[in-house]
Amino acid sequence: MTRTGLVESLIGRYPGVPAEAVLKEDLLRTGIAFDESALSDNLDGEVKPKSYFIFSFDQKPLAELGEAATRRPPEEIALTGGPYGLRRTIVSVRVNPASPYRLVGSRLSLEGREVADVELPPMPSYYRHTLANGKTVMETAPTIQWGYLIYLTVLRLCQYFGAKEECRFCDLNHNWRQHKRAGRPYTGIKPVEDVLEALAIIDDHDDGASHAYTLTGGSVTSEVDGLAEADFYGRYAQAIEERFPGRWIGKVVAQALPREDVQRYKDYGISIYHPNYEVWDARLFSIICPGKERYVGRSEWHRRILDAAEVFGPRHVIPNFVAGVELARPFGFASVDEAIASTVEGLDFFMSRGITPRFTTWCPEPSTPLGRDNPEGAPLEYHVRLLEAYRETLERHGLRPPPGYGKPGAGNAVFSVSSFMDVLAPEVVPV
Ligand code: SF4
Repeated sequence: MTRTGLVESLIGRYPGVPAEAVLKEDLLRTGIAFDESALSDNLDGEVKPKSYFIFSFDQKPLAELGEAATRRPPEEIALTGGPYGLRRTIVSVRVNPASPYRLVGSRLSLEGREVADVELPPMPSYYRHTLANGKTVMETAPTIQWGYLIYLTVLRLCQYFGAKEECRFCDLNHNWRQHKRAGRPYTGIKPVEDVLEALAIIDDHDDGASHAYTLTGGSVTSEVDGLAEADFYGRYAQAIEERFPGRWIGKVVAQALPREDVQRYKDYGISIYHPNYEVWDARLFSIICPGKERYVGRSEWHRRILDAAEVFGPRHVIPNFVAGVELARPFGFASVDEAIASTVEGLDFFMSRGITPRFTTWCPEPSTPLGRDNPEGAPLEYHVRLLEAYRETLERHGLRPPPGYGKPGAGNAVFSVSSFMDVLAPEVVPV
């Protein structure tokens, strides 16, 4: 079957999943080939460039991206129209020169046939300013989700290190190496003062477009700058909340820590906590997340998520899982049915307690063990069925969309690395 045939058959078979979400998932798992006409002029042009805000999220190494390695692609694209009459759909950019999707100018095609009009993100005025020390706002405090979220990867390295500890889908450490090798500015540990200065520039120039910030980076198993994990990430939250009280929704993505550490995050001013569990199945968790298994353990990880719900309130604990890795060869489930059943078990576990997980669509980055063995990623049918199952499970438990993601619904959603917000019913929610 052609890719077009696959996409259209899934749109037909799953009418409860908007066409926007089917196409978005396929773009996220496959990536896009970029014509030179759709690349940015880095920080000198009119298009907002891809910041490489945490992982590479590319399906080829930087050195094999051709022109896209020197002229960055856009951070995201907004799709509309085309043969499926798409409502506005924001998609994070993952580059793959071998993709059947190709962006030329403002036209996205699949196997040579146009499937959407594309708006490229305009360069935000705050990216045109630099810090006093010459660092860019793009490197220090990039924004994603069409400007909604400021993404603060303050530690570009993970202390889970090497094959026995790194999560098998993660290229954080590799990405740091490849950007350093290419001579790009890529700060291992971002100084607190730099972060504050970049946020002040954003606050002055974004006309209120940003609503949240995420503090994140690698796991800290010992110390960084003499601080254990909660205090290392917490010091940024504390400084941000002291300087800009309540200006943004503060989020932290970190390990599942003991309750007293989680309480410190809250005391430092964080309001949403993401202790990501990545994959539900016990066997797969131990294989795919060996560092998390070794330092914390799956059942303890889950217990700490439940403890965190008592500290933050269940709606404000939003653990992520990486949608698709449960089907990765050679360890993953053999069928889509089994993978969906397992993940729904995890959704039920958390949602029955008022906790709303969310997901990121797996990008099979080539430097990772799972990406190397599964360059095609997970089947599109899995992603489409997962979206349907997510919405059904959320509704069955009487839960609302998680806070801190903007408005749900096709045409409204800004969350760009999964369609989970695109498939939920539209409603007016506090941003
Ligand atoms: S905890 Fe896992 S996913 Fe997170 S940075 Fe470390 S290796 Fe990557």
